Amino acid sequence: MMGKILPSRRCEKAREEGAKSVSAIVVQELRKYYGTVKAVDGVSFTVEQGEIFGLLGPNGAGKTTTVETSIGLLPRDGGEVRILGHDPQEEPLVVKSQVGVQLQMAQFFPRLSVLETIRLFGSFYPRKRKEKEVLALVGLEEKAHALVEKLSGGQLKRLSVGLALVGEVDILFLDEPTSGLDPQSRRNLWETILWLQREGKTIFLTTHYLDEAEKLCHRVAIIDHGRIIALGKPKDLIAEHFVEKAIEIPLDEVEDGREFPPLQSVTKTERDAENLTLYTVDLAATFAELGRYAEEQKLSLRNVVVREATLEDVFLKLTGRRIRD
Ligand code: ATP
Repeated sequence: MMGKILPSRRCEKAREEGAKSVSAIVVQELRKYYGTVKAVDGVSFTVEQGEIFGLLGPNGAGKTTTVETSIGLLPRDGGEVRILGHDPQEEPLVVKSQVGVQLQMAQFFPRLSVLETIRLFGSFYPRKRKEKEVLALVGLEEKAHALVEKLSGGQLKRLSVGLALVGEVDILFLDEPTSGLDPQSRRNLWETILWLQREGKTIFLTTHYLDEAEKLCHRVAIIDHGRIIALGKPKDLIAEHFVEKAIEIPLDEVEDGREFPPLQSVTKTERDAENLTLYTVDLAATFAELGRYAEEQKLSLRNVVVREATLEDVFLKLTGRRIRD
């Protein structure tokens, strides 16, 4: 009896392991040009199964074009793409049955209800999630019978994400899933994305929110002008580019008409509308200098904050611009 069961179990296990060893998404030297505009200009990355991978970049960087060429919605001008080992241009139906997609420019039927829309999209997939579950995942239970044309912008966005979750698929492509959402809906969607990952899904998302990428993504690729300028775990990217810590002091606590002096242990000083930011590798030395200065000038520095560098600082360092300027 055992002898009969074991080989078939072994085969099944080998099949499962074989399936797991294929990367979820492989993109190599992907190119898409619109006339002289190099929307995607030699982009390469690999996403492993079960990962949350973020493509991060400012408006017009090439995020949507990367998504649309990766899933075969747009023909590519060069390079290779494999989704679970399949080329989306050669095997579009196989790829479509494996991915759920949320696009920024989602088209809806305005006279259908939310539930009817979910049902319609469900009919495209061989295996689908329960409609109630989809509604709950994107917080639209109370709008199930509302007509799509009556939804607010944020609700439409949540519906577009819900439609990516309708099929029981392995990979989700989410193109700026949280832009235009209020802070609470954004956090709810983060929870949903993390839950989907725990369910075993691979999630490829684009965003221009750096805090979102830092919180959600195992790895990120930063894209600018159609090219990837950094790729790795958020923590590693930050550590690679910054050894300094930032000390933020509200301007009204420190300047108040006087010039803040250069401190020996500070490597760089920045001012914005609210804060004076001091960068240092030696926090203790900077605090000692700051303490002496505050005592001399009779300043009570009540709201000083120490923060680690962020992906925003990395982007600024690599491009000289802020991501959302
Ligand atoms: P956003 O965050 O604003 O959505 P994005 O990073 O997704 O931006 P893309 O939409 O991929 O950027 O656009 C990349 C570049 O390609 C931009 O310069 C854009 O103007 C250009 N582009 C995109 N689609 C077309 C098109 N159909 N025809 C011509 N140019 C296009």
